[in-house]
Amino acid sequence: MTQKRILITGGAGFLGSHLSEKLTLLGHEVLVVDNFYTGSRANISHLEDYPNFEVLEHDICRTLYVDADEIYNLACPASPVHYQKDPIQTLKTSVQGSLNMLGIAKRCKAKILQASTSEVYGDPTQHPQKESYWGNVNPIGYRSCYDEGKRCAETLFFDYHRRHNVQIKIIRIFNTYGPKMHPNDGRVISNLIVQALKGLPLTIYGDGTQTRSFCYVDDLIEGMTLMMDKTLDFTGPINLGNPSEFTIKEIAEIVKAITNTSSPIVYKDLPSDDPKQRKPNNSLAKEKLDWEPKVKLEEGLKKTIRYFEQALKTEQTIVSSTN
Ligand code: NAD
Ligand code: UDP
Repeated sequence: MTQKRILITGGAGFLGSHLSEKLTLLGHEVLVVDNFYTGSRANISHLEDYPNFEVLEHDICRTLYVDADEIYNLACPASPVHYQKDPIQTLKTSVQGSLNMLGIAKRCKAKILQASTSEVYGDPTQHPQKESYWGNVNPIGYRSCYDEGKRCAETLFFDYHRRHNVQIKIIRIFNTYGPKMHPNDGRVISNLIVQALKGLPLTIYGDGTQTRSFCYVDDLIEGMTLMMDKTLDFTGPINLGNPSEFTIKEIAEIVKAITNTSSPIVYKDLPSDDPKQRKPNNSLAKEKLDWEPKVKLEEGLKKTIRYFEQALKTEQTIVSSTN
């Protein structure tokens, strides 16, 4: 294996920390750049003894001068609670941050991967969603800072590719869960598990008939690294997600059953522009990467629940960045 210099923005976050671990253990020179807005040092502290691993506290909206062979651009808060807290910074991270990272890719002739999202499809009128679908996105709503930021980042990536020959990789990630999610980030899986483990009511927004398709983190990271490595000329965009679709009510019932909690389910208002359905069409990932998710929901949830049981025992990881 050739050792590469790999820059991971957002490497201290949920997905970034799993990716950082994988690439560091493979022996690559890994540089994590993170401003710790939602990520934490605790997520990557076990890697700090490796000589091929380094962390730089930095906001990607500001200029950065480092060298890299590959860049994984993951920096951006991903949960609605966090990305709506400072919407202008969220948009800046996707737009200005992407421009800065594309600048590095252009100068270093590095390959660059963008962590885009199923949110580019908005509240989809096509189901399941294929990469060829252009989406149904509200440009002025509360989710727009995230959705439109990610859409603009995809545009920037393609224009750098066409104009400057930058080698780009765009993955559209569908809802992913697993160990190291922030316990207070407001996403449905972490919310329901933490509520169940604390004996609090399980919150369902709306009537719980809206659907999502949940991918376990190990599957997602495998798809992400395959996309970077495997098909040299393939830019994407490519969907990465698990096509098994559940209503939110079903998810709450499954979490209740696995944790054996007596917590009741309570219903709260549905946030605006909350997509009614979401499910990836994965045929392009199968064809181009020979990738399919393997971990079934119940198995992944059990692993995630075990993680949160431990995490909730240690004060450090439950410090909320939202409270
Ligand atoms: P996360 O919030 O756990 O991680 C994001 C990381 O980026 C954090 O470590 C945060 O501190 C860092 N960050 C944010 N703004 C930054 C900035 N301006 N400069 C430097 N660092 C910054 O989220 P995640 O779930 O790990 O998501 C990672 C990426 O994947 C995001 O780009 C997200 O949009 C994308 N994504 C995730 C999901 C999912 O279900 N987890 C779905 C679709 C897309
Ligand atoms: N949701 C819920 N209860 C919660 C948190 C979220 O019912 O405690 C709902 C939310 O309204 C959405 C779905 O679960 O319909 C997934 O929400 P999440 O924030 O995890 O992801 P996204 O909406 O970005 O897909």
